[in-house]
Amino acid sequence: MRVDIFTLFPAMFPAYLNESILKRAQEMGLLSVHIHNIRQYTTDKHRVTDEPPYGGGGGMVLKPEPIFAAVESVLANVPTDKRPPVILLTPQGRPFTQKVARELARHDWIMLLCGRYEGIDERVREHLVTDEISIGDYVLTGGELAALVVIDAVTRLLPGALGAEDAAETDSYASGLLEGPHYTRPANFRGWEVPAVLRSGHAARIQAWRRQQALRRTWQRRPELLLTANLTEEDRWFLRVLAEEHLRKHTADEEAASNSPL
Ligand code: SAM
Repeated sequence: MRVDIFTLFPAMFPAYLNESILKRAQEMGLLSVHIHNIRQYTTDKHRVTDEPPYGGGGGMVLKPEPIFAAVESVLANVPTDKRPPVILLTPQGRPFTQKVARELARHDWIMLLCGRYEGIDERVREHLVTDEISIGDYVLTGGELAALVVIDAVTRLLPGALGAEDAAETDSYASGLLEGPHYTRPANFRGWEVPAVLRSGHAARIQAWRRQQALRRTWQRRPELLLTANLTEEDRWFLRVLAEEHLRKHTADEEAASNSPL
């Protein structure tokens, strides 16, 4: 996959891109990242990339000319039907989820445009950008971290990017559930034991335990995910057990409270 990033701060990227799985993906030829400094596409003496907003108000707005020039220089000889999505990182975009990451991973080329200051001139959004993504309901100083988040999540999904031992299919959200807990050596740490089933060597039992832990964790932390997850009859039975367990505990707590002299 090819990723073109348009930013005013290109130096922010190499440290993260040149480590671990992203580095390996680039070495394996699965990912190639091209970073473009928007400032280099200015034509005036002072290389101005931002100006105060029309109508007043605080902050600065990124000018349209260098952004159009930067993106169009890369797209110059690319036929319209071969053009990649031009994605603006913005807190106003569609929420970035694992599903969106999977959708982007199917492209062989994407472009990521990082805003700064108050944001970009609206004409960029209207006439150049084809998609808008937000990494969460909060406001960052710039789109660079958001672009890295997108690249990281998408690269993990490129076939061959992860070793078999840390395959993406078992990650949280991959099957619509949160992943269950992990343990490693030592088996006993300060008296806290690793669950015996994980040391049993019994593959089917371990798999069943892991599935139940994933269901339990999702039920406790993100119950709404269960509405759309792919559930088997056995999963549904286990969820009923969890619900009954919860009800019994709730009833016992209420009884204890009503019997308390306070
Ligand atoms: N004034 C803008 C608004 O209220 O929508 C926020 C501008 S923000 C300070 C500067 C830049 O950071 C944005 O143009 C965008 O590129 C990036 N950014 C901030 N929060 C983001 C988020 N949650 N997701 C993606 N990008 C974000």
